[in-house]
Amino acid sequence: MNVELITIGDELLLGFTIDTNAAHLARTLASIGVSIVRRATVGDDAAEIAQAVREALDRTGAVITTGGLGPTSDDRTRPAIAELFGRDLVPDEERWDALCALWRERGRGEIPLSNRGQIMIPRGATVLTNRHGTAPGIWLEDEGGRWCAMLPGVPREMRGMLADELLPRLQGRFDAAFTVVRSRTIRTTGIAESKLADVLGPLASGVDGLSLAYLPGQEGVDLRLTSRGRGGIEADEALNQAASQLRELISRYAYGEDGTDLAATILQACEARALHIAVAESCTGGLLGARLTAIPGSSSVVLGGVIAYSNDVKRGVLGVQQETLDAHGAVSEQVAIEMAAGVRRLVGAEVGMSITGVAGPGGGTADKPVGLVWIGVDVQGTVRTHGSRFIGDRAEIRFRSTQAALDILRRML
Ligand code: ATP
Repeated sequence: MNVELITIGDELLLGFTIDTNAAHLARTLASIGVSIVRRATVGDDAAEIAQAVREALDRTGAVITTGGLGPTSDDRTRPAIAELFGRDLVPDEERWDALCALWRERGRGEIPLSNRGQIMIPRGATVLTNRHGTAPGIWLEDEGGRWCAMLPGVPREMRGMLADELLPRLQGRFDAAFTVVRSRTIRTTGIAESKLADVLGPLASGVDGLSLAYLPGQEGVDLRLTSRGRGGIEADEALNQAASQLRELISRYAYGEDGTDLAATILQACEARALHIAVAESCTGGLLGARLTAIPGSSSVVLGGVIAYSNDVKRGVLGVQQETLDAHGAVSEQVAIEMAAGVRRLVGAEVGMSITGVAGPGGGTADKPVGLVWIGVDVQGTVRTHGSRFIGDRAEIRFRSTQAALDILRRML
């Protein structure tokens, strides 16, 4: 099944908002066999919206829009498309009462009358319930079966309505013989793209008719397998098999699938072994602790940590020796070792993790250049260290340092 997508909003055209709705819709619809064959963006202008939808209906007969459904004057989607379908807008008083009640419940007082715009529904349209916000979505269909589904612009609301309302509706419209596009991502870290391809050997360019893409980023290289031209069940089976074949070859580097965060993998592994973590961070200033504690349930593993930015704190709080600092400097393997051991002792954890480095852009020297980072991981007295010269700007160097620290612990466990 083919559909066209029109995302609506001046802010999208001006570049202030990145069109993440289009990406999410394309991926999600492909996974149930619906292809977005063309997409367009128009501003908050009724004539532009109507023209874009008219052209898309003439070509494809199936259109999804996002944005412009709210109560403000820049929300023109509903009247523009209602007019195009030759429908007038009628108030849905039940919906209005519910909206008023919701405002009162949330302690917001009386609802502004401008919100009535949201309950004006094109005659004969089906309302798509919004469980994640107030603007309802709308499904409008003409006598010839041509349809337009209007979803909200706010990404969280759009995703919710897509899953709750639109996907089931679309799935009911085509037969079971359709083919889907589905993907599986294997996340790797600590290995370069080219080396991964070497390790994969004959599977480097694809597995059993599934394509394989290499997606390098700050967290490592993601390997994305994609199945096209198979039915849903067949695609899932092929992806499962191919993913386990790949994982077998690259198990040293693979830490999870799809959206998995390495920090979450580490927490699971520590929890299973009843290990607790303490962190001592210099150049990352708490980023490692923040990544770990961003994962729900982290409190059963993470005990605490120290941001040891200055040498005084490294020495006074973590117990790094003055002689070590004098002999090797703050960014050194020896200091990383003493920071990890010090924080482990201080906090009373089985695992101490430390990071000390030069995040830049200033502060680099010939023998300690920007990007040089030393990491120490101390698991019950067994210590691993790792020195790296990370590339990128300050933010990238800091992030890559946390990823490398987590990866060292993953390998130790
Ligand atoms: P509201 O009820 O909030 O007015 P709406 O359906 O009218 O919802 P818009 O006003 O068009 O939606 O957009 C609301 C917000 O959603 C925008 O400020 C923007 O941040 C975000 N947004 C809109 N369209 C997109 C898009 N295509 N991709 C990502 N974000 C978007």
